Amino acid sequence: MPELPEVETIRRGLEKTIIGKKIVDVEVRLPKIISIGPAVVSNIRKNSAVTAKKFRTLAVGHKIIGVSRRAKMLMIDLSGLPAGRQGPLTILVHLKMTGQMIFAKKGEKKAVKIFNALNSRRETLPHQYTHVIFKFSDGSHLYYNDIRQFGYLRLVRDQDLEHVRELAEYGPEPDDKKFTVQYFMDKAMTRPKLSIKQFLMDPKIVAGIGNIYSDEILYWAKIRPARVLRSLDLADFSAIYRAVPKVLKGALKAGGSSVGDFFRVDGSEGHYGRVHMVYGRYGENCRVCGEEIMRVKLGGRTGSYCPHCQK
Ligand SMILES: [Zn+2]
Repeated sequence: MPELPEVETIRRGLEKTIIGKKIVDVEVRLPKIISIGPAVVSNIRKNSAVTAKKFRTLAVGHKIIGVSRRAKMLMIDLSGLPAGRQGPLTILVHLKMTGQMIFAKKGEKKAVKIFNALNSRRETLPHQYTHVIFKFSDGSHLYYNDIRQFGYLRLVRDQDLEHVRELAEYGPEPDDKKFTVQYFMDKAMTRPKLSIKQFLMDPKIVAGIGNIYSDEILYWAKIRPARVLRSLDLADFSAIYRAVPKVLKGALKAGGSSVGDFFRVDGSEGHYGRVHMVYGRYGENCRVCGEEIMRVKLGGRTGSYCPHCQK
């Protein structure tokens, strides 16, 4: 699942490619990927041809004027239209487990890997997992691919954005000035028995940290993922707090971690996976001390850690 560095990498890729482009068509091949309005999108949903048609009607004719991000939600800002037609709109995109957004210039035959595995085949877009295609007036295309089909594209009027529950509930971004070590500790004190890994992964505490980066942050903070919050002292919290930007900025610089099926907007891979210290390295040796990397189950997720480097 893409986390903050991956989603921000995609945002930057979209910003470079689709801003200023006018939508002339939207081909919805799998209607359940599409929704309209601020209501929460469930993981279990039905295909509605009516919704897909309405989505297309509303989106066509608009220009893309901005691409922003809040936590793991991408927000594609569409221009307003003359009086009588729909006003300013935003397309909220959540990639969930396996969503991808790939851009292709006019006439460009783009072939991308389905999975980021050595033996994964490359397929020319659109392929069987391409569910939505935006067509722009200059002949370029934006493809939304999603194997697991949990992701969504939700069209919301700008005036309704405040009613989107996920957006209202997200905790601060890691670089927000509201995210202080004091805030971090105050939140931790309300749930003393929770593990630090689960705490870091809670989007209401801080936005955009999932399984990969919680493991990496805790490695650099020298704290084991299963440690419960009440066992941590000020020095521990400070170390974790400092590791958050260190890890996320490093990952962003590398274009994210291509594990599973994350690819950048141009179809290329992120490189942070090559420097992971613990995530995905169970049974391998620690790059620093040589000890074998261990794993621990925490609330349905698995944390990896070095038993020597982390206390
Ligand atoms: Zn170690």
